[in-house]
Amino acid sequence: MKIKNQWLFIFIYILILVGMMVGLAFYLSQPTCRVSASCVWSGVLGTAVTLIVIALLLGAAFLRWLRQPIKQLGVLVQRIASGDTQARLMPQSPGLFSDLVRAFNEMRDRLVHQLDSLEKQQRQLALVLQHMADGVLIVNGQGYVQLINPAAANLLNTSADVAHLRAYAEVVRHHQLIELYQHCRETEENQVAAFEMSGGRFWQAVVSPFKELEVQGYLVILQDLTAIRHLETVRRDFISNLSHELRTPLASLRAVMETLQDGALDDPPAAQRFLERGVHEVDTMTQMVEELLELSRIESGRVPLRVQATAVSDLIIHPVERLRSLAERGNVKLITELPLDLPLVLADQPRIEQVVGNLLHNAIKFTPPGGKVTIRAHLSHDKENVAAADAVTVEIKDSGMGIAANDLPRIFERFYKSDRARTRGRSGTGLGLAIARHLVEAHNGRIWVRSHEGKGSSFYFSLPIADS
Ligand code: ADP
Repeated sequence: MKIKNQWLFIFIYILILVGMMVGLAFYLSQPTCRVSASCVWSGVLGTAVTLIVIALLLGAAFLRWLRQPIKQLGVLVQRIASGDTQARLMPQSPGLFSDLVRAFNEMRDRLVHQLDSLEKQQRQLALVLQHMADGVLIVNGQGYVQLINPAAANLLNTSADVAHLRAYAEVVRHHQLIELYQHCRETEENQVAAFEMSGGRFWQAVVSPFKELEVQGYLVILQDLTAIRHLETVRRDFISNLSHELRTPLASLRAVMETLQDGALDDPPAAQRFLERGVHEVDTMTQMVEELLELSRIESGRVPLRVQATAVSDLIIHPVERLRSLAERGNVKLITELPLDLPLVLADQPRIEQVVGNLLHNAIKFTPPGGKVTIRAHLSHDKENVAAADAVTVEIKDSGMGIAANDLPRIFERFYKSDRARTRGRSGTGLGLAIARHLVEAHNGRIWVRSHEGKGSSFYFSLPIADS
């Protein structure tokens, strides 16, 4: 403002000066005028007219001078408003507008900085939402979905584009989720519930009301608890199976002791028989405890593997020879079909022999007399196992009782035994397949099973081939 006033004073000063000079010149040029009042008036009028004309001319020039930077300012504001954050005014030479230009550029810089940090925050938030495992939905006060992250879209079988600004009920299509949300709207309090969805999945949903700067809405968080529930079930089953497995040999041992106490000790041949049964039960419990310890060691990575390039036949021949007599006793034919040109695989030989032994023992155990067990191996491209894209797959196929479809998904869990295996009294701890799975996975391999109840089972495992 200081500069503005300064210019105004200079302008008025020049105006008065020029006017006075013109009036004086006019007065002095007419010597007769000095006594004539009308002549003096004419002088004054002439001066006034001259002053007005000069003022108008100067005003027009001043306006012309002012219009250009104001026009520039207008264009710039429009560019910034349309998102061009690089637009700025060029600094002027010192004068009326230089302060304004500086102030404007400073304001623009501050605005751009604030916009940048807002954008950055928004990008970070979007990134968090994008990668969150939990589903997040924001529903506005009118009940329309304003935001949905990929996890929520995935859980609800929809997409962000389809769900955006659709009614909440239309997007979630699940009565319990809708009820939970309505309850939250009515009470304006947090609501939490866990429920089962289709496909045996378990969810927990949290609906919370929020009010930000007069904007009302609801935050819905969806968590997939299926894996946790599954772990809980496995843990519960593990404890109940362990108790169950220990109870049988313990009860048997107690019966043996009581019989001995009640007089069997005085009958040496009977005492001998009972003692042998006692020893057998103790052996069963010892084997179970040892297998459990072994499993826990493998699971926690405390079993160091000495992996080296090994011929597949070396992994199979020893367990086959060891179990041949068992197969013969059970009248089960044992067939080995190994191609000669198989590449070497990466394996810790004793550990993989243990896996083959477990699978082979089961195959013989669950195959009735007259059946057969075949061991094959072939080169495979294991698409499901990235770590072992090129692998050798070993198959142990039996013509035995097979496994029920509902037992198949759980067959590799600790202590899991099919009901038929239990009721038919086939001895076993239910730990063999769990150990086999952990050992194969520790080799970056994969183990799986295909089975038809009543027709037989095929257990497979793959091992990565060694680079030649
Ligand atoms: P177990 O010591 O009881 O054999 P495993 O872990 O080796 O323990 O096997 C778990 C269960 O898987 C067995 O009890 C049985 O129900 C089933 N099973 C394993 N192999 C076979 C097979 N070849 N045929 C049928 N059932 C099998």
